[in-house]
Amino acid sequence: MSEVFNFCAGPAMLPTPVMAKAQHEFLNWQGTGSSVMELSHRSGIYIAMAEKAEADLRELMSIPDNYKVLFCHGGGRGQFSAVPLNLLPTGQTADYIVDGSWSKAAAAEAKNFGDINVINITKEDNGNISVLNPTEWPISPNAAYVHYCPNETVNGIEINEIPETNGVPLVADMSSTILSHEVDVSKFGLIYAGAQKNIGPSGLTIVIVREDLLGHAQIATPCIMNYKLAADNDSMYNTPPTYAWYLAGLVFQWLKDLGGVKAIAKINQTKAALLYQAIDDSDFYQNTIDTKYRSKMNIPFWLKDESLNDKFLSESEAAGLTALKGHRIVGGMRASIYNAMPIEGVQALVDFMQQFEKRNR
Ligand SMILES: *Cc1c(COP(=O)(O)O)cnc(C)c1O
Repeated sequence: MSEVFNFCAGPAMLPTPVMAKAQHEFLNWQGTGSSVMELSHRSGIYIAMAEKAEADLRELMSIPDNYKVLFCHGGGRGQFSAVPLNLLPTGQTADYIVDGSWSKAAAAEAKNFGDINVINITKEDNGNISVLNPTEWPISPNAAYVHYCPNETVNGIEINEIPETNGVPLVADMSSTILSHEVDVSKFGLIYAGAQKNIGPSGLTIVIVREDLLGHAQIATPCIMNYKLAADNDSMYNTPPTYAWYLAGLVFQWLKDLGGVKAIAKINQTKAALLYQAIDDSDFYQNTIDTKYRSKMNIPFWLKDESLNDKFLSESEAAGLTALKGHRIVGGMRASIYNAMPIEGVQALVDFMQQFEKRNR
């Protein structure tokens, strides 16, 4: 097969130069004669790599010094448990803003560990979907924290304004948006992200946490989920996902070489605009999300004639445009266009969509 553009929501495509570098040094990393995945996480050469990856992420996101960066196990869902275990003292309540299926799942899991106040912010009007503006969210002034998901991977909803919580720590699940555009980390108490969308392979989860939030974990918190233990041990209390950490480091370096988050944000803006324009210009395809809250990473779209779905999927696959099937909850199609997706991939999709429309209208 010639070139393939993989639109999978996660695990998602990785930058080709990163994969080529990993392949090149797979059997003999930095002259050790071993693969990086065969080396001790306590070896000097591995630790130097790990520290550089963290430093590069700090630089990319301008992470202030009073934040710890943790390299954890357990994926995004692992954090659905770890966040309340670490940040929700017994007897207090946490607010959970729900704007789609991931934030809903986060709230459901948190209920196992304390009192959770669920705040639904989605609005549906005639099939069109929008969300309540962050300035209107009814956040409790005495919540232990407020959790939200700025980019809902399944629903294709993105909230760009950072909510003002008046001192209540803000917790964000950035699994599908981290590093896609600039964010002011100082506005957050905690940011977490599973790696397999915009950072690297699955198996690694990044947690960025303000230092004053450490050390208040519930007694039952498993040691491998305890942020303070992780921070005190440089994320090596137990064996970290060493290969995923290494590959994440290569992605951070790739992003820096590209000009950093500001540069990729511009490209992401162009990619998303190109695809939304194609959808909006056609009466064959549609996207029903309020334009102000449309995701730039995960773009769901629906064929008006849904009986053509299978044909669209098999023909797009044959054209080298893979994994476009929408999530089963929302149906239709979804194009995930994370940092690693080149603009050529989006252009190829748009060209295919236009030709498919011509053949089938
Ligand atoms: C993918 C995803 C998750 C779940 O990640 P896992 O690593 O599979 O647990 C959680 N939140 C968001 C926003 C996601 O996109």
